[in-house]
Amino acid sequence: MIKVTRTQEPAYLKSRANGWLKDLRKARQNNDTVAYNKAIAKYASHHVRDALDKMFSGKCAYCESLIAVVATAHIEHFRPKQKYPSLTFTWTNLLLGCPTCNDGAHKGTKFPKARDNGPFIDPATEDPLDHIEFFYDPLSRLALARAKTLRGQLMIETFGLNVRPDLLRFRSTYIRTLLAIKPDELVNPEYAELLADARTDRTPYHAWIQALAL
Ligand SMILES: [Zn+2]
Repeated sequence: MIKVTRTQEPAYLKSRANGWLKDLRKARQNNDTVAYNKAIAKYASHHVRDALDKMFSGKCAYCESLIAVVATAHIEHFRPKQKYPSLTFTWTNLLLGCPTCNDGAHKGTKFPKARDNGPFIDPATEDPLDHIEFFYDPLSRLALARAKTLRGQLMIETFGLNVRPDLLRFRSTYIRTLLAIKPDELVNPEYAELLADARTDRTPYHAWIQALAL
């Protein structure tokens, strides 16, 4: 997880959000499930997804994996639309999420309260570094996350940041490779290029790249 600067609300959403919300409320008042389901899905537009994709450089807000390589990114509601329907079309409630982080086994429709060590950390409003330390363990050769606060612990556990086998393996190999080539950066132009590319926002697992000063 890294801090992300929220970009401007896409004009498409800004001009339609209020109307969609009115339709949603009306459908709920009328107990019209068909109209409600139709209204609540209006946010799912490529205009919104494209804006989030740009804001997050194509990476998941939670696990920082590059999504487009294997899947279509989800428009993720930080506060779940099932529990906070009035925020369904609110730009500041929207993040980019990968299908795994967004599924029921991980975030799903959860949104824990403070008494349950919540709420989750929104990387567009808070710096994850205040809650999570990102480090490399040379013994296990794994790039891991360590909680600094209870909310950080909630994030690591909910999103399985240290236990999802594919995520852990790919992330650790990538960081380990960068660590291995770093000492020869100045004498090997190829290594210098690889490291320069890794330092841009486009690459995954930037939290570790920054923390390890790669
Ligand atoms: Zn993810």
